[in-house]
Amino acid sequence: MAARWLRLHVGRLFAVGAELGSGRRAYSTSQAFAEVLRLPSKQLTKLVFPLQELERHFVPGSRPDLHLKIFDPSLDDIARAESVFTASSRNRIEYLSSAVRLDHAPDLRRPEVCFIGRSNVGKSSLIKALFSLAPEVEVRVSKKPGHTKKMNFFKVGKYFTLVDMPGYGYRAPEDFVDMVETYLKERKNLMRTFLLVDSVVGIQKTDNIAIEMCEEFALPYVMVLTKIDKSSKGHLLKQVLQIQKFVDTKTQGCFPQLFPVSAVTYSGIHLLKCFIANITGNLKTNGFQFS
Ligand code: GDP
Repeated sequence: MAARWLRLHVGRLFAVGAELGSGRRAYSTSQAFAEVLRLPSKQLTKLVFPLQELERHFVPGSRPDLHLKIFDPSLDDIARAESVFTASSRNRIEYLSSAVRLDHAPDLRRPEVCFIGRSNVGKSSLIKALFSLAPEVEVRVSKKPGHTKKMNFFKVGKYFTLVDMPGYGYRAPEDFVDMVETYLKERKNLMRTFLLVDSVVGIQKTDNIAIEMCEEFALPYVMVLTKIDKSSKGHLLKQVLQIQKFVDTKTQGCFPQLFPVSAVTYSGIHLLKCFIANITGNLKTNGFQFS
């Protein structure tokens, strides 16, 4: 399957560069993703579509309840999304500001996405991986106990703003609820909340604080499973199925498809970028368009 895609899309990829039409930058974006496309098909699937790669390990005939293809962009779509995340003089990707209160947050001109999760879930590593084509962006980490935790805003060109929310767990819920609840409830341009869960340990008690908040405010949110490189295939499958069951049976606002990622191997990162580009209204993908 992936081999067929590969044949179909490698040729077309260079057309993507022309289609993007911004000269050198678009060309080098395509070159970067062309490296990915040169991988053998199994490796490509594992890197770009980790959930589909996991599916191969199910017993034939069993019917796992994984929603694999609700968001199912083509490799062309994914290549185009890369350009959104590639810094250039025409696409400035940069740290904007930090805020402890919503009224200190930057203006509402662009659509916004935010990332929340327990301390140590891998949030800063994931954001760094998303910004790997913008190496000058500094993802600030504040891990010192007692240190004020802030919301950090990053501008991604003219496309959207990404917000790194304070991690919960330590001193939660007070810190978290004060700042994060107000943000989630009142931020008008918030398009989607990305809720990070550590795939090694699954959904923990403290994760429920965030899940309950998203549900209570009827926010659309997405579950991202971090650190998928850390577990054996069997352990990962078990965790993914448990989390999928939780999403299917216990949530209303969570997007049914899970997004497994690794900030070490970059598995799932390209797909997540494409999803973000889509839900912020910057990229139409095959058969899938959020309003
Ligand atoms: P944060 O507190 O949520 O921002 O978490 P960090 O991004 O600082 O990550 C916490 C720890 O997990 C660090 O030691 C990271 O190196 C590690 N980590 C984060 N993401 C991954 C991953 O995808 N794979 C592996 N193996 N380790 C990770």
